[in-house]
Amino acid sequence: MSAADIDWKTLGFDYIKTDFRYIATYRNGSWGPGELTRDNQLHISEGSTAIHYGQQCFEGLKAYRCQDGSINLFRPDRNAARMHKSCARLLMPPVPTEMFIDACQQVVKANEAWIPPYGTGGAFYLRPFVIGVGDNIGVRTAPEFHFVVFGIPVGAYFKGGMTPHNFVISSYDRAAPQGTGAAKVGGNYAASLMPGAQAKAEGFADCIYLDPLTHRKIEEVGSANFFAITGDGKFVTPRSESVLPGVTRMSLMDLARERLNLEVVEGDVHIDQLDQFVEAGACGTAAVITPIGGIQYGEKLHVFHSLTEVGPVTRKLYEELTGIQTGDKPAPEGWIVKV
Ligand SMILES: *Cc1c(COP(=O)(O)O)cnc(C)c1O
Repeated sequence: MSAADIDWKTLGFDYIKTDFRYIATYRNGSWGPGELTRDNQLHISEGSTAIHYGQQCFEGLKAYRCQDGSINLFRPDRNAARMHKSCARLLMPPVPTEMFIDACQQVVKANEAWIPPYGTGGAFYLRPFVIGVGDNIGVRTAPEFHFVVFGIPVGAYFKGGMTPHNFVISSYDRAAPQGTGAAKVGGNYAASLMPGAQAKAEGFADCIYLDPLTHRKIEEVGSANFFAITGDGKFVTPRSESVLPGVTRMSLMDLARERLNLEVVEGDVHIDQLDQFVEAGACGTAAVITPIGGIQYGEKLHVFHSLTEVGPVTRKLYEELTGIQTGDKPAPEGWIVKV
């Protein structure tokens, strides 16, 4: 497949082999020079810790085509900082921020034909990751590491506009109280595959995880963060050691405060106090915002704004954030890095 074959309108969120990816190797205490390669296969030892002990972490961020043809990266420094933390938690060497951003820039530039045009709602999704590699068998940190960044063009998440989705409360946990919930690591995702598949088989978009200690408070919506709007105009999002600190969530908190004049509260979202909310949503890089129509908890479907209509605050937040990402609206200082 070549970039010329893509129908930007029907593009989904699927792996596509683009032309170039970046790879660097950590060996003998330092990162070697990274390089671009056309090879999309990794050649790693069968003893790699990434395979046996889940020693790996990843990131997800997007590059956006602007109306003037230029390309925006959205807050890549935040993804770099988060990857430092994920690496530290899994005893892997951090990737320096400059190296992380440079790698993203190189991959975007080398694959410029694959960046969706302005106005299609699409973007170029970047997937940086670090894996422990090298000959090994014992439970210990790897002798070597790869840092890789590849990218794929992705379509507008909601073809035909944003629509609310229903979610179901899971009885499973994706993370433990002092575990790896705040690190973006594959192990959390492995734990979420089965509950997620069950939720989808029951007709829900995904499941919602409660706090792993008491199972009384909302933590995450599948692999996205939760937020809700109260009747008296507060933007509320859970505060917890096991919630993944999303860049979208962090950005929406700022926009809610600075541009929508909402009070922002990071606190507990009790599952039996959902009546105070008039809107709710899931937020993350892939979908930006998925409005939550209803939440199934036991026998009851709790409906927020509507099962079919998107609430006004959710819509405003979505427009503000996507406007900034594509360069249509002024960005707060430091949010946009030009490629
Ligand atoms: C990546 C991720 C998010 C969203 O983070 P963004 O930086 O906004 O994309 C939320 N929850 C989990 C579990 C994640 O892995």
